[in-house]
Amino acid sequence: MNHLLVELTKIVGAQHVLTDPELMAPYVTDWTRRWRGDAQAVIRPGNTAEVSAVVRTCRDAGVSITVQGGNTGLVGGSVPATHSDDVAGVPLPVLVSTRRLTRLDEVDQLAGQVTVGAGVTLGDLHKHAGAAGWEYGVDLAARDSATVGGTVSTNAGGIRVIAYGMTRAQVRGIEAVLPDGEVIEHLGGLVKDNTGYDLAGLFTGSEGTLGIITAVRLSLVRPTAATSVALIGVSSFGQALHLLHTAIESEVSVLAAEITDRTGMRLAMEVATLAWPLTGDHQFVLLLEVADGGTGGGFIADALADCDVVIGIDALTKKRLWEYRERQSEAFSVHAAKTAGGIAHKLDISIPLQHLGECADELRDRMSRYPQVDTFGVFGHLGDGNLHVEITGPDADDESVDFEVLSVVAKYQGSVSAEHGIGRAKTKWLDTSRSTSEILAMRAIKQAWDQNNLMNPGVIFT
Ligand SMILES: Cc1cc2nc3c(=O)[nH]c(=O)nc-3n(C[C@H](O)[C@H](O)[C@H](O)COP(=O)(O)OP(=O)(O)OC[C@H]3O[C@@H](n4cnc5c(N)ncnc54)[C@H](O)[C@@H]3O)c2cc1C
Repeated sequence: MNHLLVELTKIVGAQHVLTDPELMAPYVTDWTRRWRGDAQAVIRPGNTAEVSAVVRTCRDAGVSITVQGGNTGLVGGSVPATHSDDVAGVPLPVLVSTRRLTRLDEVDQLAGQVTVGAGVTLGDLHKHAGAAGWEYGVDLAARDSATVGGTVSTNAGGIRVIAYGMTRAQVRGIEAVLPDGEVIEHLGGLVKDNTGYDLAGLFTGSEGTLGIITAVRLSLVRPTAATSVALIGVSSFGQALHLLHTAIESEVSVLAAEITDRTGMRLAMEVATLAWPLTGDHQFVLLLEVADGGTGGGFIADALADCDVVIGIDALTKKRLWEYRERQSEAFSVHAAKTAGGIAHKLDISIPLQHLGECADELRDRMSRYPQVDTFGVFGHLGDGNLHVEITGPDADDESVDFEVLSVVAKYQGSVSAEHGIGRAKTKWLDTSRSTSEILAMRAIKQAWDQNNLMNPGVIFT
């Protein structure tokens, strides 16, 4: 054991310093299996003081840190680079896992807020808020593994953005360890607090490049009325968007508007052993969830009169209708494992709503002519103009197909990352969505806080 690991062991205890390759394996490979790297150890601090001491010790040793929460990120930001990517002589990084930071404070009933540790999963936060009579406004399919720290650090979106906005809209304060080990803490939760720079806002979406988030103060929302879910067969994005604006009673809140194409539906049916849910075959399936008291009355019967539709009002049916959508990413990964490339290329784009259908058609057309592509599908958050593009066939390191997709996104003035972040996967394309001046400003902030580039090097910036 080298000197650094001896010092880190003194801080977190031997059982929280993992160096056995078998124990480290799940930490150094990401959820998509496309990104894997090398680290000298996985360190699992149990509180903020330990995180701070770990960061200081690594800084003094000139060793970089990769920060990891639930490791469900889809852009390779949660795992270190491979050793061959490292400059010769540079020591391997240390991977700091935040999963033991599971502080869950009592819900502040007056403010409708809660302070939680970075390692708390979204699922546990939902249960905690629910037990106190509140809800947390961010939800996504990886809820049982994704952590609060990870979702803040990526400014995660998910299935409720149409109702409550992205994670940034929920963050009221933050506690974090800066790259020099200094702790900043601003968890008072004041709604109005114009006292200088918004550091919590800066940390939100910083993908571990500015430090380690250890706790977050979050706004909660009042529970909605019981909901109903409609699954509707549609032939185009245009028809789906039209229904989103015409098929829901005006006084009813829309909680989700998701879309899945036929390819993804078929793959989800295989992986989840589900039957086709509608009477006819359709190019796309639209999922709408509305807070109408769970009666199904939130949908306008006349607008849906000519549609192939199934409505769920009981919990079991709603869960089944959601499953086609929530199993998408997994379904493409399972399918990819059977193809030559072995992994699915996953892209997360957003497009101005008026061009969404046109862009998806162009992508489908280009991919159908792309020799290595075996399967192409899109699904995503329709209301936010956010599509997840899944491609199987090309090798994991064949980036030409990703480039092809992102060049179409640039043509329609979309974003190369709607909600997953830049990570390692999209550093080359940052400049297609952000101007040179913006990137220079971001680099200046990074440089000011992390002169030696020790915090998540290779993430966001090349
Ligand atoms: C099935 C599935 C569905 C998904 N659906 C969605 C979706 O609908 N919307 C969406 O936005 N994303 C979605 N994701 C992606 C993923 O769940 C999110 O990006 C999530 O925010 C990652 O959280 P995590 O705890 O797993 O973070 P990780 O994957 O561990 O890390 C992600 C990034 O955050 C950094 N990080 C993690 N914790 C901290 C911390 N405490 N301090 C500083 N930096 C940190 C890491 O270094 C990395 O750069 C999905 C993923 C899966 C597998």
